[in-house]
Amino acid sequence: MTLPKDSNRVKSENYQTPKGRDLSKVFFASLRVKDTGFLEKIDKLLDTAGLTEIFGQNNLVALKLHFGEKGNTTFIRPLFIKRIARFIEKGGAKPFLFDTTTLYRGARANAVDHIKTAFENGFNIGYPIIIGDGLLGNEKRNVEINKKQIKKASIAQLVFSSDAIVSIAHFKCHLLSAFGGAIKNIAMGCASKEGKLKMHSSIVPYVDKAKCISCGVCVTYCPVEAINIVEVASIDKKKCIGCGSCISVCNEGAIKITWDIELKKFQERLAEYCYAVALLKKERIFYINFLINITPSCDCFPSSDTPIVPDIGVLASKDPVAIDQASCDLVNDSIGIENSRLRKSFRKGEDKFRDLFPKIDWEYGLEYAESISLGSRKYTLQELS
Ligand code: SF4
Ligand code: SF4
Repeated sequence: MTLPKDSNRVKSENYQTPKGRDLSKVFFASLRVKDTGFLEKIDKLLDTAGLTEIFGQNNLVALKLHFGEKGNTTFIRPLFIKRIARFIEKGGAKPFLFDTTTLYRGARANAVDHIKTAFENGFNIGYPIIIGDGLLGNEKRNVEINKKQIKKASIAQLVFSSDAIVSIAHFKCHLLSAFGGAIKNIAMGCASKEGKLKMHSSIVPYVDKAKCISCGVCVTYCPVEAINIVEVASIDKKKCIGCGSCISVCNEGAIKITWDIELKKFQERLAEYCYAVALLKKERIFYINFLINITPSCDCFPSSDTPIVPDIGVLASKDPVAIDQASCDLVNDSIGIENSRLRKSFRKGEDKFRDLFPKIDWEYGLEYAESISLGSRKYTLQELS
């Protein structure tokens, strides 16, 4: 694999670290196989990247993943999750799968629906599933971080109780942050409902009346009955909790937000919530990104569109910023799929995220994450054979 020309990736031997900070290591297993299968390659990746260093014998190790919304078909294959769980089990610990309840209506808004959806999506793989913030999403504790946006982060109780956390993120695009990887998986996925609300709360959308056809779809998806239709839809700003569901489901593109200010706050809050979990778990957290089925929307959507680039492989690291930066670089260094939602940036090196989300400065989220010492955008990439 050749290095992207204009990425932040640097070779360690040529690099002077800023303020003495070491480069972060990111390990990469491409989908190419020679003598062994890809599952064996995953074992090798986890071993080389040092996953066993984050847990001890009989530790309860929480695998944070997204089980996929009902109807979604491009979440991480349960087979891969099972392999990672087995690797941890062989290392002497007790792995289990977890996610938290969603803010929006759907098939994962409480623990019962969520586990049922996980089973329907194939995650009955012999390891327990636990919903981290309880039956209704209110089992939580605060972590004091005193950052620009968030002073106290409201985190799911399970994150405190587990001995170690492994983030297993499906890397793909996202409506509000352009991409979703390790940072988003931990930030949104480890937050309680209250925490999710705090991250979204600056996003108060409005309806472009000229575009609204009064279909009513947004009304059925709004979790707090903030949308009324009188000729066309309108949003009660006092009731709206900024979950973003209506923006996602309006096929007419009639629901909009003021991108520049609100999206930057959202990106900052994501980084700060991930920081809270990283602070809590210290060296007992590890990140895996699957760059397979890189779809234009996230797994919260009840359907899956054509991926924007061909499958790339799996990354592993102890740095959430480095692994997300590396994932973005690998996607942008790929050739775009023509029959996808990409509009023009099909060539290697062209910015796929800006093509899909021209109003989102996706790099800002990583810059901000680095500025609060969540991790480093500078990394070395070690590809496994
Ligand atoms: S989903 Fe869109 S088009 Fe339909 S009522 Fe809502 S805003 Fe109008
Ligand atoms: S109006 Fe507000 S609360 Fe309702 S779906 Fe839209 S963003 Fe969510």
